[in-house]
Amino acid sequence: MHYFFDPDISENSTHLSSGELVHFKALRILAGDEIGVSSGKGFGFLAKVVDPSSGEITIVERLKSQPGTRIHLVQAVAKGGRDESALQACTELGISGATALQAERSVSRWDGKIAKNTERWQQIAISALKQSQQLDLPAIDFVSSVAEIVPKGIALVLDPRAEAQIGAVEKHDSYTIVVGPEGGFSEAELSVLANSGFRAVRLGDSILRTSTAGPVAVACLKLLAGDFGNRLD
Ligand code: SAM
Repeated sequence: MHYFFDPDISENSTHLSSGELVHFKALRILAGDEIGVSSGKGFGFLAKVVDPSSGEITIVERLKSQPGTRIHLVQAVAKGGRDESALQACTELGISGATALQAERSVSRWDGKIAKNTERWQQIAISALKQSQQLDLPAIDFVSSVAEIVPKGIALVLDPRAEAQIGAVEKHDSYTIVVGPEGGFSEAELSVLANSGFRAVRLGDSILRTSTAGPVAVACLKLLAGDFGNRLD
């Protein structure tokens, strides 16, 4: 089944928002097809298409997101779209929000393009939301240094040189994870993060690309929190 995004969808909706209609043709959506419509606000609907040319639908069933741990990703901007890959994969796994971080060693610079790039990240998140059939859209924002990060829940900085492994982190309902750029964090940044309450953790012994580290950490934390099922001891 195909999913669409309509922030204005409700029980009383008779039409899908016009912005999503352009995809009907490419996806060969026909009258009578069932589609999912995500509001991005934790709920959505199963709907039946009445008229694909006008976007007319009939609401069939209300869908609600499952409760789970909330993970906020702070991803250093990186070249070659590696930051966007991280955002895409983390959104598919399920994150509550994402912050683009201009780190000291980020090769890519957002100066003068913050609004445009934030909107681009939001569109990547919407596309990943639809692909992964989710109902909670992560909100995107931007910070120009690690000092501006406001942690929610257990605050973790991913650092390959950390002594503690991510498996040692305690189960919680909310985490913030910070991922560095291609060249990693500077000592000054790590010290600011430590003073703001971030604990350094590593993900095994490999040096992962910045695009890989965030999704691995999100998967580990979800496993730890029980979002992927509970252990049978
Ligand atoms: N030489 C850099 C360093 O030592 O930090 C490598 C940077 S790595 C390519 C980019 C980012 O991914 C790092 O700043 C870190 O946040 C994360 N990362 C990569 N591998 C990791 C690991 N094994 N454990 C924790 N974080 C990792």
